[in-house]
Amino acid sequence: MALFKEVKKPVLRPTASGGAEVSAGRPAYVAKTAPCIHSCPSGTDVRGWLVALAQHEAWGRTSAQAFETAWRTILEHNPFPAVCGRVCQHPCELNCNRKAKDGAVAVNRLERFIGDFAIAQGLRARLPHPPEPGVAKVAVVGAGPAGLAAAYHLARAGCAVTVIEAAPLPGGMMRYRIPRRVIPAEVLEGEIGNILQLGVALHTGCVVGRDVSVEQLQKDYRAIFFAMGLQKAAQLELRISDDAGALAGMLPSEPPQIPDREPEESEPRVLNMVSPAIAQGQAVAERIAAFLEQRAVRPAGRPAVIRSDRVKLDWYAGALRVDGDAPMAEAEVLKEAARCMSCGMCMDCETCWMYCSKNCFVKLPKGEHYKIKLDLCNGCGKCAESCPCGYIEMN
Ligand code: SF4
Ligand code: SF4
Ligand code: SF4
Repeated sequence: MALFKEVKKPVLRPTASGGAEVSAGRPAYVAKTAPCIHSCPSGTDVRGWLVALAQHEAWGRTSAQAFETAWRTILEHNPFPAVCGRVCQHPCELNCNRKAKDGAVAVNRLERFIGDFAIAQGLRARLPHPPEPGVAKVAVVGAGPAGLAAAYHLARAGCAVTVIEAAPLPGGMMRYRIPRRVIPAEVLEGEIGNILQLGVALHTGCVVGRDVSVEQLQKDYRAIFFAMGLQKAAQLELRISDDAGALAGMLPSEPPQIPDREPEESEPRVLNMVSPAIAQGQAVAERIAAFLEQRAVRPAGRPAVIRSDRVKLDWYAGALRVDGDAPMAEAEVLKEAARCMSCGMCMDCETCWMYCSKNCFVKLPKGEHYKIKLDLCNGCGKCAESCPCGYIEMN
């Protein structure tokens, strides 16, 4: 599957005779943040998983291996790709640079395919490290998208997590405010089950203040995230208490109401809240982990965002977006992913290597891009001029 146009080897002409210096500038790789990543509430590496799909053959992967790679990339940030692939309002597409050419990449439908693929294949998230004895115990009150996402990230950070939920079943707004025709039962159970199988304990039908007191929770856990009532809370608040532990989260103004039957329609307001809630859970988990590990919160700062005027749109082969509402077929997924322009990150297209008349670019193994031999460079700047995705700059 070609990510870019077939390029013919150009006739290479030295840009100056006798090795003369053309300019004092020298090329440097400068990674940028793609707008899709910047716009995703969870900061998912959209570009990374799209390019992994598009270039799976170059990586020596089957399509199934590429789908799994894409799923694991998404799961670094978001444990709910199949849910988000159905309900997220996909700001990633709204800001996609490909819009300036022939239509945004259909990220949301691709994400749905990847999430559904993982459920159908029974793929399971893994802990980055085996659990260690004496790990910190953390309670998450509320098994909605924020609480479950926080539980997932805290488990991955090595905590022993217990989720306490007042309702009979987990899922919060995803279960009780959105109909099953929008989020099918197997999707909801599949993605929640994937979080629980990491060792996250779940107590349903347990009301804090009735079945267990806050004081008891404070005795039993080093940190508590009150993640219920997100529907009502506008602000996420983190309060670090005394040395007894961290008390984190949103204390609801009133107990959440549990509807006695499935809603018939989705409220747009609720659909809009799922992705941001998942992202909030991720952010709170990081703050709790930082507190427990006595380190600074890892900065969310990313390099500058690259806009479409810095991408060489004409360089990429034209390809209309695969449109529609139905689930995508495998061939459509690979075709659509190949429309991603890898904005701001090298995609191993070889253009700089071909255009450099001084042979400064030395190919490295796939994924490591190129080494630039600056001692051979005469500062002609052809590499930076020709790099389609805006990854090379002259310094
Ligand atoms: S669809 Fe939503 S959750 Fe998925 S990548 Fe786009 S913005 Fe992020
Ligand atoms: S073309 Fe690809 S990398 Fe660029 S903004 Fe769109 S999805 Fe992201
Ligand atoms: S021209 Fe191609 S290979 Fe060279 S840095 Fe840019 S994207 Fe990477």
